[in-house]
Amino acid sequence: MDLRDTPDEARFRAELRDWLAASLPDGLRGHRGGAARFEGEAVREWSRALYEAGYAGLTWPKEYGGGGCPYSYQAIFLEEMARAEAPHHLGVIGLGMAGPTIIAHGSEAQKARHLSRILSADEIWCQGFSEPGAGSDLSAVRTSARLEADRFVVDGQKVWSSFAHIADWCLLLTRSDPGSERHAGLTYLIVDMRSPGVEVRPLRQMTGEAEFNEIFFSAVEVPVENVLGEVGGGWQVAMTTLLHERGTLGFALTAALEVAVRKLIELAQDRGATATQRDAIAREWIELQGLRFTAYRSLSALMKTGVPGPEGSILKLQWSEANQRLGKLALELLAQDAQLLADNAPYGGYWQHHQLRSRGNTIEAGTSEILRNIVAERVLGLPRSR
Ligand SMILES: Cc1cc2nc3c(=O)[nH]c(=O)nc-3n(C[C@H](O)[C@H](O)[C@H](O)COP(=O)(O)OP(=O)(O)OC[C@H]3O[C@@H](n4cnc5c(N)ncnc54)[C@H](O)[C@@H]3O)c2cc1C
Repeated sequence: MDLRDTPDEARFRAELRDWLAASLPDGLRGHRGGAARFEGEAVREWSRALYEAGYAGLTWPKEYGGGGCPYSYQAIFLEEMARAEAPHHLGVIGLGMAGPTIIAHGSEAQKARHLSRILSADEIWCQGFSEPGAGSDLSAVRTSARLEADRFVVDGQKVWSSFAHIADWCLLLTRSDPGSERHAGLTYLIVDMRSPGVEVRPLRQMTGEAEFNEIFFSAVEVPVENVLGEVGGGWQVAMTTLLHERGTLGFALTAALEVAVRKLIELAQDRGATATQRDAIAREWIELQGLRFTAYRSLSALMKTGVPGPEGSILKLQWSEANQRLGKLALELLAQDAQLLADNAPYGGYWQHHQLRSRGNTIEAGTSEILRNIVAERVLGLPRSR
C-alpha cells in the first residue's frame, strides 16, 4: 500500500489547505466542539461556505449534488479540517448518515426533497434510534408506528438524540408490527420534527452543555411516503445508517487525536513533565502512529469493497480510550490548575472540557464492550457471546 497522496490527491490537499487558511474565520479556529458545534449563526455560515466550496458530500454521487470523489478525498478533507481545528459542517448526521441512507434506500421523491438541503445545511437532521430500553441492543426498540390509512401514527420515546433540539428532520426507527420481536417488524421513518406531538427535551451533560435530547412522540402523524425502505424492513435500513456512522469516522477521529496529542506535547513543554509523564506522553504518540496505519488499512479496504470493514470498530475503540487517557494526563500536568473552570482555567479550560466530554466517547456510536465483542467475533473469529 502506498501511503503517499497521488498527484491528484496532493493537489486537492494543497487547494483545501489554502482554502482553509483563507476562509476559516479566526473566531472559529481552534473550535473545541461540544455544544459549541451548533451555537450561533457563524457555524451555520461556515457550513454553507463548505458547501459552496464543494466540500460537503465529497463522496456522494454527482447526480445528488456530491463531489463523486473516492473515499481517500474524504479522508484528506477530515485530516486537514482537524489540523486546521475547523468546526465540522453542522449537518453531521445529515451528511454522514441521513444522506447515505436516503441515497441507498430512498425513493426518487425523498432524494429530491432532502439531499440538496442536507448538503447546504438548510435542514439539520437527528438520529432517533436509542430508547431508554434499547441502546446497545437496538433490536429492542419499542417506539410504535401504527398504520392508519395513508399515514403512520407514532407513539414512544427516544433518548440521547444529538442535535434533536435544532433538527428539522429525524431518522426514526420504529416497531410497526406490535406482535414482532427483535429485528423483524421494524419500520424506518423520516419524521418532520415540527409535526404536532413531537416534544424535545434537552439533557444536560457533565460539561454543563446540552448536546443531546429526549424526544417524546405522542400520536405523531407521519405520511406513508416518509417510510425509508420497506414497511417491516427497517432493520436493514438501520444497518446502512450505522455502517456509514463508522465508515470514515475512524479517519476523523485519528486526525482529531493527532491534534490533541500535539496540544498535550505543547502543554508538557509549557508546564514541564516528570519522567513518568514524559514516558506516558511518548506512549500515546506511539499508539497514535498505530492508529493512523489502522486508519489507512481501513480506508484501503473501504475503497476496494465500498463497504466499511470491522477496522472501524478498532479505530473507534482505540481512539475513545486514548482520548480519555490524554485528558487525564493533561489534568495531571495542569496540577492544581486542573481544578479551575472555563475562563479562569489556563488555555481557556480546553483540557477540563476535554476531560469531561471524553467520558461519553466510550459510549456514543457503540460502547467499548460492544466494540470489543465485534472485534472478537468478526476480526478474531471467536465464538459469539450470545
Ligand atoms: C454523547 C452521546 C451521543 C449520542 N447520540 C446519539 C444519537 O444521536 N442518537 C441515538 O440514537 N443515540 C445516541 N447516543 C446513544 C448511544 O448510542 C447509546 O448510549 C449506546 O448505544 C449505549 O446504549 P445504552 O446507553 O442504552 O447502554 P446499554 O446498552 O444499556 O449498556 C449499559 C452497559 O452494558 C454494557 N453492555 C450492553 N450490552 C452488552 C453486551 N452484549 N456485552 C457486553 N457488555 C454489554 C454496555 O457496554 C454498557 O457498559 C449517544 C450517546 C452519547 C453518550
